[in-house]
Amino acid sequence: MTAQEAAPVSAGRGEPLVVLSGVQKHFGQLHALKDIELTVKRGEVVVVIGPSGSGKSTLCRTINRLETIDEGTITLDGKDLPQEGKALAALRAEVGMVFQSFNLFAHKTILENVTLGPVKVRGVGKADAEKRARELLDRVGVGHQAAKYPAQLSGGQQQRVAIARALAMEPKVMLFDEPTSALDPEMIKEVLDVMVDLAQQGMTMIVVTHEMGFARTAADRVVFMADGAIVEENTPEEFFTHPSSDRAKDFLGKIL
Ligand code: ADP
Ligand code: MG
Repeated sequence: MTAQEAAPVSAGRGEPLVVLSGVQKHFGQLHALKDIELTVKRGEVVVVIGPSGSGKSTLCRTINRLETIDEGTITLDGKDLPQEGKALAALRAEVGMVFQSFNLFAHKTILENVTLGPVKVRGVGKADAEKRARELLDRVGVGHQAAKYPAQLSGGQQQRVAIARALAMEPKVMLFDEPTSALDPEMIKEVLDVMVDLAQQGMTMIVVTHEMGFARTAADRVVFMADGAIVEENTPEEFFTHPSSDRAKDFLGKIL
């Protein structure tokens, strides 16, 4: 990526970009998010870890409003999340999301997968969208696959296309929800390498992952969740060497 392309994401580095305050979320009787306070600054990489069912996915999903919240506020770049309509579609573009399952459009080519959003949502011209898509596909190492369909690619390649597709919308923040959990071991690194590169370019990222190597290398901060609450947050060095809560000690004992 050129310095010119990097400029928009690194501008204003360090200002609050995503702010959750007093966020409460219930699924029926289940208290899925408990009084969440979280500020992610522009350019920051926050890794969210915690046991299964602790609310990590729900947290991500509230940030691009795939889930509503019961109480509290979430702001992106100083503005409350929109509730509906065109503003909500614009929000989904500004908050790129990459899931465990690749979610590519099966009946569209790789190139079409990456150009569709910019053309339909951002109103970018087709030629410009294709040029940009090819650059992004090259950047994630799948440029030569542009004419193929998702099923013709490996899982690792599909996930890199999913990252390129989200980036094509020029998001302000990228959310990754266990992006490597469904991949065969030999494909994990190729996806993590793209994510590390993105982090180094200054992208603001919230990453749910059990890949502790990634957390140590790329995270500015680790947020540990249990039972719907943020139990502790710290730098990766501190968190991995001196977890303060019993829940975190117990969790790290199981995965490390
Ligand atoms: P994690 O990603 O940390 O594994 P989730 O955010 O997926 O956890 O889930 C947190 C809790 O909320 C779990 O108990 C889960 O079963 C529950 N949950 C998540 N989504 C829904 C839903 N749509 N309806 C009901 N319960 C849900
Ligand atoms: Mg999850």
